[in-house]
Amino acid sequence: MVVTYEQALSIVQERISGANPLPPIESVALDQVRGRVLAEDVTADRDLPPFHRAIRDGYALSVADLTAAPAVLRCVGEVAAGRSFETEVNSGQCVSIMTGAPLPAGADAVVMVEHTRSVGDEIEIQRGVQRWENVVLQGSEASQGARILPRGRRLQAGEIGLLATVGKATVAVYRQPSVAILPTGDEVVPLEQRPQWFQIRNSNAVTLAAQVNSAGAVPVQLGIAADRKDALREKIEQGLDADLLLLSGGVSMGKFDLVEEALAELGAEFCFHGAAIRPGKPLVFGRVRDLFFFGLPGNPVSTFVTFELFVRPALALLGGAALEPPIFLRARLAKPYRQKSGLTMFMPARVWIQNRDPVVELVGWQGSGDLVGIAAANCFLVIHHDQTELAAGDWVDIMPREQ
Ligand code: AMP
Ligand code: MG
Repeated sequence: MVVTYEQALSIVQERISGANPLPPIESVALDQVRGRVLAEDVTADRDLPPFHRAIRDGYALSVADLTAAPAVLRCVGEVAAGRSFETEVNSGQCVSIMTGAPLPAGADAVVMVEHTRSVGDEIEIQRGVQRWENVVLQGSEASQGARILPRGRRLQAGEIGLLATVGKATVAVYRQPSVAILPTGDEVVPLEQRPQWFQIRNSNAVTLAAQVNSAGAVPVQLGIAADRKDALREKIEQGLDADLLLLSGGVSMGKFDLVEEALAELGAEFCFHGAAIRPGKPLVFGRVRDLFFFGLPGNPVSTFVTFELFVRPALALLGGAALEPPIFLRARLAKPYRQKSGLTMFMPARVWIQNRDPVVELVGWQGSGDLVGIAAANCFLVIHHDQTELAAGDWVDIMPREQ
């Protein structure tokens, strides 16, 4: 069964979510959690901010004293960030305050220092302010006990900063899924080996490992399988205790494309054979002995693109995260484009900014084997199956090269 891009993605999502793969939980130091998936709901241990916080340098005062600006107030003290104090602001008074300091009792606004002038210990306030202007109220970002990060959230720099704010020095995260990588093909030789003229270096294994790493999972290299069913079966069996198996090559219609047959002999169930996309049409997805697998086409660009389209979201789910489907952005097409393949196309392209608009143009490439083309690209131009005729300047979808 050949499915559309959208169908393929929803099959992957449904099948993996249906298997409910919640990985074991481990406790990890905060400086090691980037890219990991949170395994607990995290709550604020105190109000955020913990006090009414000044966000400008200036004078704390009561707006009731500023009904007619300019007004002259007497400065009765100073509060700096990081110092405790007992100063209060009474009628006719103000207090010099620094960014990050708590607002003194009796004050309900801060006037920026730029809008004041000091004359001895009197301060002329030259502008009126709204109540709570230049102040962030205690608990307004989150109140103590509120959930600030949900289980299943992938932790990036912003989330890590928030975890530090609430004092989480160690965090419960899901164990990273392990991904067995199995390149196939009689012509494929290891990097260490000097290829003969008819041989090809195994680039897919390292590309996939880099993508697996960036998806927060751990690659496990199985070595190269020859185009023989017994060799394939043996290597596949070595990968069965991983959390996901990625095969590359051997899924097309050639005489030596034996990956599907080898998987079938091991009792595999196939959820789809082929997707209406280019590159990547021969892609297969299924399950063998409780292990999900993708048979990715061997062409390096096909392998790369099908990973981004389907494997990365699959790894999010297998790692305990919410689905992270590829996000398409929009850009204007630099040159007209026509197609009648009926496929959803993902072609290496470059996007740049011209007159404040993103503009996208295909890079020259020789088809799905061309990693030189990928390296020249910074995105993929996405042409949907029903977009047959596009003019220069039309808005189109693009997918960032790596999410
Ligand atoms: P296949 O999908 O097996 O028909 O392979 C398609 C193309 O991808 C062929 O030109 C292969 O030589 C190439 N290819 C397959 N596996 C790899 C690999 N691991 N690294 C680089 N190129 C590969
Ligand atoms: Mg092959």
